[in-house]
Amino acid sequence: MKPANFDYARCERVESALDLLAEHGDDARIIAGGQSLMAMLNMRLVRPSIVVDIASLDELAYVKEAAGYVEFGATVTQAAAEAWPALRKRVPLVAAALPHIGHFQTRNRGTICGSLCHADPSSELPLCLATLGGDVVLRSRRKKRVVGALDFQIGLLSTAKQPDEMMVAARYPAARSGWGYAFREISRRHGDFAIVALAAVVGDGKIRLGVGGVDDKPAVHEWDDMDDDSLADALNDFAWDLGGGDDIHATARYRREMVRRLGKKVIGEARQCRS
Ligand SMILES: Cc1cc2nc3c(=O)[nH]c(=O)nc-3n(C[C@H](O)[C@H](O)[C@H](O)COP(=O)(O)OP(=O)(O)OC[C@H]3O[C@@H](n4cnc5c(N)ncnc54)[C@H](O)[C@@H]3O)c2cc1C
Repeated sequence: MKPANFDYARCERVESALDLLAEHGDDARIIAGGQSLMAMLNMRLVRPSIVVDIASLDELAYVKEAAGYVEFGATVTQAAAEAWPALRKRVPLVAAALPHIGHFQTRNRGTICGSLCHADPSSELPLCLATLGGDVVLRSRRKKRVVGALDFQIGLLSTAKQPDEMMVAARYPAARSGWGYAFREISRRHGDFAIVALAAVVGDGKIRLGVGGVDDKPAVHEWDDMDDDSLADALNDFAWDLGGGDDIHATARYRREMVRRLGKKVIGEARQCRS
C-alpha cells in the first residue's frame, strides 16, 4: 500500500520543528529514521496531514556525558551510538542490546529517540532505558520537561508525549563502578523483534530485571540480592505476575518460561561482569 497524501517539511532547526508541531498538533508526525513510521504510513495506520523531518537537525546529532548519565540527541542513529568509542564502558547495557536491533541497514537510519517514541513493547532501547531508570527530554513551544522512562511509555505504541512535543534527547544512566549489566533476547531469527528480551542490572546489593515482549510495555522489578533457590522462586512469581498473551510467535506460557530461564542466566551474567 501507499501512504495517504501528506505535506512534507524538512527542518534545519529545532525551533522550526517545534513551530510546526505547535501549529498542526495531532495532524503532524515527526519522522526521524523512518524505519517504523514509513511502515505505519504505508499501511495507513497513521494518516498525518504533515510529516516533519528532523533527520538533518545537526544540533541534536550528539552523544554527551553528563553527571551520572549519557545523553543521546534526537538525531543520533543507532549505528552512530554503536560507533561511539565509550559506549561499552559508559552504557554497557545499551552496547549489549544494540546489535539485536534489526539489521545494520535499519540501524544506519533508525534513531535511539525514534525507537523510544515508537514504544514497541518488544524494542530493546525502551527496555534498557526502563531497566536503568533513565529519562527522556521533551520540548515544545510551551516548555521543556524531563520524564522518567517508566512514566513515558504508557502502553502499546503509546507514550506520555503530547502532540506538540518532540523528544530532543534520551538520558541513559552511566555504568557504576562495581555494578554488572547484561542483556539477552530470544527471537525467531537474528534481527527479528524479540519474543522475550531481558535486561539485568546487579549492584549495591540489588538485582533489577527488565522484561520486554511479554506485556504492553517493559516490566521492571527490583529485589534485594539473594541466593539461587530464592531467585528461582522470585522469578517464578514475577513471570506469573507478568501474564502476557498468546500470539503467532509464542504462547504466554512459553514467554513466562523464558522469563524464568533466561532471567536466571542474564542475572548470572550481570553478576559475573561486575567491574
Ligand atoms: C526490518 C526492520 C527490523 C527492525 N527490527 C527492530 C528490532 O529488532 N528492534 C527494535 O527495537 N526496532 C526494530 N526496528 C525498528 C527500528 O529500530 C526503528 O529505528 C525504530 O523503531 C524507530 O526509529 P526511527 O528513528 O526510524 O523512527 P521513525 O520511524 O522516524 O519514527 C517512529 C515514531 O516515533 C516518532 N518520533 C521519532 N523521533 C521522534 C522525536 N525525536 N520526537 C518525537 N517523536 C518522534 C515518529 O513520529 C513515529 O511515530 C526494525 C525496523 C525494520 C525496518
